[in-house]
Amino acid sequence: MPEGPEIRRVADVLEKQVAGRVIDNIYFGLDSLKAWEDQLTGSRVKSIETRGKAMIIRLDMGRDDDLYIYSHNQLYGRWHFCNTDEYPDSQRQLRIAIDCQGQSALLYSASDIAVLNQYELQNHRFLCKLGPDVLSQLTTVENLVERLSSTKYCNRQLGGVMTDQSFVAGLGNYLRCEILFYAGLSPRVRSRDLNDKELQFLANAILKLARQSYQAGGITNNLDYAKILMEQGANYEEARFYVFRRQGKACYHCGSQIEKKVHAGQACFYCPECQQQ
Ligand SMILES: [Zn+2]
Repeated sequence: MPEGPEIRRVADVLEKQVAGRVIDNIYFGLDSLKAWEDQLTGSRVKSIETRGKAMIIRLDMGRDDDLYIYSHNQLYGRWHFCNTDEYPDSQRQLRIAIDCQGQSALLYSASDIAVLNQYELQNHRFLCKLGPDVLSQLTTVENLVERLSSTKYCNRQLGGVMTDQSFVAGLGNYLRCEILFYAGLSPRVRSRDLNDKELQFLANAILKLARQSYQAGGITNNLDYAKILMEQGANYEEARFYVFRRQGKACYHCGSQIEKKVHAGQACFYCPECQQQ
């Protein structure tokens, strides 16, 4: 599943494609949304916001209040961008098509889509439960230390807390593995077992790796080292991670074999030597 950084990068492209433009035509593939097509045609795309793995397209409706198209890609949703006269011949189910002055944004296969007013957006069942967005500049190390120290999270194993969207929105499996490696922590550790310095380091690692991944196109490994690896012939997938999907390979830091074990329902990749705590 794409994680916060991947969703935000897609949102950046969507923003370039349609933000500020008037919608000439909009199509919804789900029957429950068909009735919105006429009403949203002629509105102007104001902005594209992401919250964790959810995307929110804000529409200026002229005299009425703004409306919002909420979508969550889950496993299968894919955005595609093209000229309006160049829709691809796809086997996937088209769920949203937005045509704006010759440019189009198409969402395929996603099923979690809704058109909401501001009240409905604020009370949305999924958005309501989200913690602070990991990519928001308003989310700080102090916020995360406070959350890690709270009774809601401090007694739970970090391997589960990291991907709980109510703790912080936008982390998925690759980021949890990479963050725990960077912080030198086993997925079984609880934040109540950490001292202040370790909590600060972990909170900083969460923000640092998620933001680096957003800016560097998905690379969480040390950027200089990833560059060297690619110069030596490694491809992007081989160079981008410290531990994720690297089971059986040597840890870049200590040379031990990276291991893979299921933790909190998902495959967790870790170095048994560097993540002993
Ligand atoms: Zn190691």
